[in-house]
Amino acid sequence: MANSKKRVLSGIRATGRLHLGNYLGMVKGMIGLQESKEYEPFFMVADLHAMTTPYDPESLRRNVREVVLDYLAAGLNPEKASVFVQSLVREHVELAYLFSTVVSIARLSHLPTYKEKVKQYPENNTLALLYYPVLMASDILLYKTQALPVGDDQLPHLEIAREIAKKMNEKYGTDFPEPQQMKTEGHYVPSLTGEGKMSKSVEGSYINLTDSLEEIKRKLAKVPTDSGTQRGSIPEIGGVRSLYVFYKLYFPDDFEELFEKPYKSGRIRYDTIKNSLAERIYNELVPIQEKRRVLEAKPEHVDKVLIDGAEKARKIAQLTLEEVKEKMGLK
Ligand code: ADP
Repeated sequence: MANSKKRVLSGIRATGRLHLGNYLGMVKGMIGLQESKEYEPFFMVADLHAMTTPYDPESLRRNVREVVLDYLAAGLNPEKASVFVQSLVREHVELAYLFSTVVSIARLSHLPTYKEKVKQYPENNTLALLYYPVLMASDILLYKTQALPVGDDQLPHLEIAREIAKKMNEKYGTDFPEPQQMKTEGHYVPSLTGEGKMSKSVEGSYINLTDSLEEIKRKLAKVPTDSGTQRGSIPEIGGVRSLYVFYKLYFPDDFEELFEKPYKSGRIRYDTIKNSLAERIYNELVPIQEKRRVLEAKPEHVDKVLIDGAEKARKIAQLTLEEVKEKMGLK
């Protein structure tokens, strides 16, 4: 019987270990899908995307492995889902090239995500960076993904993927879906610095899935706060807002009682808040860390998972690519 499950692809750049933003914004959602009978998830380790910001080859190799271990430790079940390395399924690059014929340079260069990265790395304003959303559209559409759990940071890129799908369908009669965001509870995990989102590429912004309780406490201790004695509503931006968002995520039933009320009456104790938060976060990470230690000792198992994953992904990717090449006059 043909596999009638809906395919969902999501990826993480191989730029370091996974953090809570990746986990709550994407991975947890994907793990949830793998348990349903309706979906077949593909977890991609985006090594090509990692090359769009400054990197060194040795760290890239190491980071690919780190991401795979984190995915598996977080609960990816290779019986039900696949994990593969982007560059090993060459169809991603080939389809991206074909897609690049229907996107304008102006559209890509006006993207806020592109502008931010150029600001962050002015020496690295490369063609690959500009091309990132086109490759991402290819990643998603090769598997005809209709909806995927991704964080809000990826919304401008999803829009590009939808525009590409629409143009390809209109111009060449393909049947690409216009992919939408499946919103997870942690669709926007803020930075610990109080500015912007938690990100691997912003030092001091993140908590890794591998952090110890002491590390988490140390990182949370640095979140900037106020005196805690002023009354009024919780600020819209800054460290206190970040803590509040974390509190809501980790204390969904008690955040009003434990955070909102004390804040509004000028009696909040940030040391207590930070300690309880660190413990909750760590408790969720303990089983992930235990599983990771077991996997670290079984490199041949991880290799096998990657080989099988690439094989499964390649089969689907080849079919889509052949179809598109034919419709675009290359066959
Ligand atoms: P990073 O910016 O840390 O390098 P990636 O670009 O590799 O993260 O993103 C991988 C996935 O994790 C994407 O689905 C992205 O939307 C999600 N993600 C990353 N950061 C966050 C965040 N702070 N909040 C919610 N989701 C996030």
